[in-house]
Amino acid sequence: MNAMELGGAHPLRLPSVRWLLLLVVLMAVASATALWLTLQQARELGRPNQHADLWYVASVNSELARVRQVSHQLLAGEASAQELLLRLEVLYSVLDKTSALTSLSDRLHHQLPHTAATMRELSHHVDAWLHTLTPRPSASGERVARDVLSWADGLQQQTRMAVADVHVAVTEENDATRQSLHQRFVLLSALLAGLLLGTAALIRHLAQEARRARHLSRTLAQANQMLESRVAERTRQIEEGRQLLSFILDASPSDVLLIGADNSEVIFINQSLIRRLNLAAPPKHLPKSELLQDPAQCQQLSDELERYGEVGGLEALLGHNPPTWCSVSARLIEVDGRLSHLIWSFDITPHKRLEAQLRELAASDPLCGLDNRRAFLEKSTALLEHCRRHQQDCAVLMLDIDRFKSINDRYGHAVGDQAIIACANAMRATLRDADVLGRLGGEEFAALLPLAGERATRDTAERLRGAVEAIRIELENGDTLSFTISIGTTQLANRATLVEDLMIEADEALYRAKAEGRNRVVNLQPLGPRQFPEALAPPA
Ligand code: GH3
Ligand code: MG
Ligand code: MG
Repeated sequence: MNAMELGGAHPLRLPSVRWLLLLVVLMAVASATALWLTLQQARELGRPNQHADLWYVASVNSELARVRQVSHQLLAGEASAQELLLRLEVLYSVLDKTSALTSLSDRLHHQLPHTAATMRELSHHVDAWLHTLTPRPSASGERVARDVLSWADGLQQQTRMAVADVHVAVTEENDATRQSLHQRFVLLSALLAGLLLGTAALIRHLAQEARRARHLSRTLAQANQMLESRVAERTRQIEEGRQLLSFILDASPSDVLLIGADNSEVIFINQSLIRRLNLAAPPKHLPKSELLQDPAQCQQLSDELERYGEVGGLEALLGHNPPTWCSVSARLIEVDGRLSHLIWSFDITPHKRLEAQLRELAASDPLCGLDNRRAFLEKSTALLEHCRRHQQDCAVLMLDIDRFKSINDRYGHAVGDQAIIACANAMRATLRDADVLGRLGGEEFAALLPLAGERATRDTAERLRGAVEAIRIELENGDTLSFTISIGTTQLANRATLVEDLMIEADEALYRAKAEGRNRVVNLQPLGPRQFPEALAPPA
């Protein structure tokens, strides 16, 4: 179930609700307007004096008839002039324009001008008759009666016509109003029917929407439930994966550490590293300075991580109690949005031990254990440089077993080897630990004696020569082998000389010792005064 399925149809329905609402509102407004107009018309119909004009004209007609009748009676002597005056005043009051009915005669003026003119004419006559009659009714009564009768027929005819006209006009007006009311009623009915239909459609639509909303809500709830169960399942899988990874990392012989790059907060540490660091429990923080013993290696790890984001196979001493040689690799990674350092390492102690053994083997003579020629040259070069820097004298000794070939020839190669070993042991025993000793090859040896002046050198060489002379090697055939060595020496004497040059000088002295009869020490006496190189000249 996706968002399209859940809400896809919904947006299409909103406009129809809006249109329906608009329609209903329009219908309601139209109905209200029509109702208001109808009410206005009904109020107009309900207005009093609807037939005032008719009453007015009819009253005038009937009063005129009475005036006419009284006029007849006056001439016949049956009525007095006073009675005629009274009827004329009544007629006048009916015709009076100042009465309350005046406004109603607007219709007469506008729709029935002929009737209005008749009324005006009658009014003129009545006015004139009253004028004549009022000062002396008895004197002018008969004259006025005759005048009335002379006009009465025509006027009576006109007022009757006026009554008919007004009656027709009022009836037509009422008919028009009735028809208009009927039309409005029909319109209002149609509008109300529309309003009813619109409201019904809206209610139906809203009911459908409510049903749809309920359905969508149920579907959404189901989808939510499904999603929650999938999230729970995924969370469980991730947790299991995390536990499996922790188990694997804990079971791994390699050390694994994950710490925050900025604060060294421990995010993960495996059991192997906890054991290696002799910790009782995983620490909260583990700075690299506590991880690596050597501050220089620690700095190198931090620098390379910062510069390249990773370090590979850095050989370093891990832990402090005791430290272990490990190959350390590290990488800058992001964990939960935080920069972190993933550091892993493994023990390379056997490898280091083997390496040391190989280095030892490569540097030492396999027969006697002294340094071989290469190692001797390396070490003595460094020591000579040290002596020169500190303006200390030192000596180089070259040793050679006398007539060694005859030992080999007489007792065999193995006995010759014994002699070589015995000579090396004598050198070790006689010379100091600070001296560098080496077997250059065959039965030739060399030694570099730091802090040894000419006299000390001679004494040491003599002591060594005597020590070798005193060696007695018991042979299998019962014989006892003894042998001697010759030694040539030379001094550094603050010269800018290489070890190889000093060895040549000592070899030259050795050659002289051999030439002078062997079993002796010869010190090379350099020709002429010794010159200090300018740079090495002692301060004045
Ligand atoms: P000199 O007094 O003049 O030094 O005479 P020398 O006999 O000692 O001199 P030489 O250099 O002629 O003899 C060296 C001999 O040492 C030759 C060689 O067979 C022998 N030799 C070289 N290396 C070894 C070794 O490792 N073991 C044994 N037993 N003999 C060796
Ligand atoms: Mg030799
Ligand atoms: Mg020799």
